[in-house]
Amino acid sequence: MQNGILPQKGGRYALRVVGSCGVFTPDALRAAALVAERCGGGRVTATSRGTLEIDRIPAGRLDEAVALAGELGLKWGGTGATVRAVTACKGTDCRRGVFDTHRLALQLDRAYFGTPAPKKFKIGVYGCPNSLGKARGQDVGILPAPGEAGRFLLFVGGMMGRRPRLGDELGSTLPESALVEAVGRILAFYRRHGAEGQRLGDLLEEGGAPLLDRLRAELKELA
Ligand code: SF4
Repeated sequence: MQNGILPQKGGRYALRVVGSCGVFTPDALRAAALVAERCGGGRVTATSRGTLEIDRIPAGRLDEAVALAGELGLKWGGTGATVRAVTACKGTDCRRGVFDTHRLALQLDRAYFGTPAPKKFKIGVYGCPNSLGKARGQDVGILPAPGEAGRFLLFVGGMMGRRPRLGDELGSTLPESALVEAVGRILAFYRRHGAEGQRLGDLLEEGGAPLLDRLRAELKELA
């Protein structure tokens, strides 16, 4: 199954449309609406990762839906054992946000979105401690460090789902300029040590404190 296509009940499919880390232009929204009207069930669903799903596409219309989405300039993806769409809170515009969350999310997205991983890998960027819980529910969650202007906390190995797990704090804080590299190192570590189908959180549970310390050591020089 092509990345970005999800089987649904009744032999139908959803097409997962990705924007720009949760931001969609009016043209993209109109395009998604058109695909939904012509080929789907006339509805579009917003997901928790800031993507859109054009639902209820009958199997016989799937190729047409994909072709039309392509013609209209939509991008789809964000499924399978890959780095999923990077999410950012509204910190760019929210009055509580202390840095440009969308800019950082875009940098991370350009660097890693869609690349392979042992299992899905979710990155979230948040603009203030109000989203501490969300940050700790990501494979990598990024949050401004309280009381340390320009520096950030990283949480690793969080996950929701059937066995929710709070991400572990990495310890030392990092400057914004090191964050893309830091996420790349975490991802490389996960690819090196994780078994196929194993979430980062499960890997860290299995390896315990010694494995987390090894990961911390790989990021130490970036601090
Ligand atoms: S986490 Fe903070 S900055 Fe982000 S949307 Fe919520 S209140 Fe605003």
